[in-house]
Amino acid sequence: MKDVIALFVAAIGRKNVLTEQREIEKYRHACIPVEREIEMALTPESVKQIQEIVKIADKYQTPLYPISTGKNWGYGSANPVRNNNIIVDLSGMNRILEVDKDLAFAVIEPGVTQQQLYDYLAKNQTGLIMDPTGSGPNCSVLGNTLERGYGISPYGNHFQSLCGMEIVLANGEILRTGFGRFQGAKANYTFQYGVGPYLDGLFTQSNFGIVTKIGVWLMPEPEYFEACYFFSDSEASLGPLIDSVRWLMLHNVVKGSINLVHRNRSLTMLSQYPWKTMKGRTPLDEALWESMAAERNIGTWNGVAGLYGTKPEVAAAKKIIKQQLRGKVKKLVFLNDRTLHVADKLKVVLSPILKMNLPELLKVLKPSYNLLKGKPCEVSLPSPYWRKKSPPPHRNINPAHDNCGIIWFAPVVPMKTEYAKEFIDIVTPLFRRFGFEACITFTAVNPRSFDCTLPILYDKENHEETERAIACHEQVLKECTAKGYVPYRMGIQSMEQMVGEKNVFWNVVEKLKDTLDPQGIFSPGRYCR
Ligand code: ADP
Repeated sequence: MKDVIALFVAAIGRKNVLTEQREIEKYRHACIPVEREIEMALTPESVKQIQEIVKIADKYQTPLYPISTGKNWGYGSANPVRNNNIIVDLSGMNRILEVDKDLAFAVIEPGVTQQQLYDYLAKNQTGLIMDPTGSGPNCSVLGNTLERGYGISPYGNHFQSLCGMEIVLANGEILRTGFGRFQGAKANYTFQYGVGPYLDGLFTQSNFGIVTKIGVWLMPEPEYFEACYFFSDSEASLGPLIDSVRWLMLHNVVKGSINLVHRNRSLTMLSQYPWKTMKGRTPLDEALWESMAAERNIGTWNGVAGLYGTKPEVAAAKKIIKQQLRGKVKKLVFLNDRTLHVADKLKVVLSPILKMNLPELLKVLKPSYNLLKGKPCEVSLPSPYWRKKSPPPHRNINPAHDNCGIIWFAPVVPMKTEYAKEFIDIVTPLFRRFGFEACITFTAVNPRSFDCTLPILYDKENHEETERAIACHEQVLKECTAKGYVPYRMGIQSMEQMVGEKNVFWNVVEKLKDTLDPQGIFSPGRYCR
């Protein structure tokens, strides 16, 4: 190991080779119950340095685990799938290399965060907006794209907005996808497929290379925007709502995504587990859920969508949405910049008239409204603190650093009532049996599928509860997969189990791995045998 360290130091400089405990401790922080042995992290500053690192690693068969910002909360954070990988932390490579205002794309390095891209686009008056995920301002745009994450705007399917990749391969060569291999190609970042096999998908959810650059398509700021919120007051309303969501998206009335958020999930973003009222018991009583929701005017199922377009377009969409949701919701509200501004100004006066705590409501509403308009925020980040005994910080929330317990389970559920109901009927009793609350969001990733995000929120400082959380996740994963509801993405704790399946799919992946990375130096075990 000493020899290898010396080689890394010679290649990328002493300051970029971290071996002290205090320097590498942060890479071990995680929200899922894993503890990986990590002895070293490298912080390269250029593609050239990455190539040098890879050449050394390949020669000495030293496994590398590249991360962009390494947040990946609830899926493993910066932790590798296996022990004793060297973390290659690319957060310092954070240049926005190009933004084309007319063609509406950006070319970025791995360390570019959501906030950084947002700030750049706003400050330079590009007239473009990005699609932020709920994972907060400090997460990497590239890292999320490689995990095929999503947001809620019309550019919310991040893999679909990816155009052109640069990848360092295990032999140190640089692969450019699409038209990138042609010197002076003009359409690198405007035409995704190039000519020949379309390789980009191979470098998402895989371990075939280190991605050093990507092109990301951006949305022109719409001429007009309104946010649509709707609330229903019964579990039974879900079916009719799903039919409407599917119709509105298939008919392109809503161009982005629609989120259906269950009451329980909304409450975990707004409050913490009422340990006192529950006298330390878990899981939370139905009656208490109901009273907590009533206090905050939260419906049983709560919908949110952004309406983007020209003013007449948005007006037409609103009319159709009203028709579609008639009789299915208790309340349907549209907000625009002006109404939000007025509500903010008059919040104290309006609160008693509207019989709601408007100042409190606006604290959540404003960031979530701005999220739809492309501004990253921390509105979803308090959820992992649900069972924690201390509250989340007011700013710069980092659930992994605070040792919060969250294990994500994110299966894809086709957008039909029968599937959603079957899915809910599997997970709700299972969660209850293990002493947890099922807190569901259905995000329409496309007009045909919901991505259901279902966190297991647990107290990571409680050993017994942590064991139960692991068991709950394993059981939920097993039963849902058996019934056909398979996650779109995995945490590092489940990868071994998944790739252990004996089938042609993983055989092919293994062959690709043998070809692209014969020594197996990149992220061993990550979506691969
Ligand atoms: P974020 O901080 O935005 O959540 P991460 O940096 O944690 O994203 O990335 C998520 C996962 O994607 C990582 O655990 C890693 O396995 C993989 N990954 C991230 N960046 C790269 C990269 N540049 N090249 C290859 N794989 C990467």
